[in-house]
Amino acid sequence: MKICEICGLPEELCVCEEIAREIQKVKVYTVRRRFGKLMNIIEGIDEHDIDIRELTKELKNKCACGGTAKNGQIELQGDHKRRVKEVLADMGFSSDTIEIKERDNRSKGRRRR
Ligand SMILES: [Zn+2]
Repeated sequence: MKICEICGLPEELCVCEEIAREIQKVKVYTVRRRFGKLMNIIEGIDEHDIDIRELTKELKNKCACGGTAKNGQIELQGDHKRRVKEVLADMGFSSDTIEIKERDNRSKGRRRR
């Protein structure tokens, strides 16, 4: 039986990750890679609190796309920003702390309040 290092409870009873999910400040945006390929980046997830590989697997399933987790970021192929937010919210992340950034290079530096 595995014991959680944070709360000392067996893993089945541990809610540390659930609590952690609610407070993650997640940023979701897309970048254009080589050959004009769009990649969806999800960042701000604390790897110490969240099982980022498991999360990547879930997102790949739900968005039906390929993807990887590296350097604390999740990369998904394509543009799934809205879907990613939905999936994360379903998994217990607070939708208030999931920020979708529209990155449009054309409007760079011209943002107004
Ligand atoms: Zn725990």
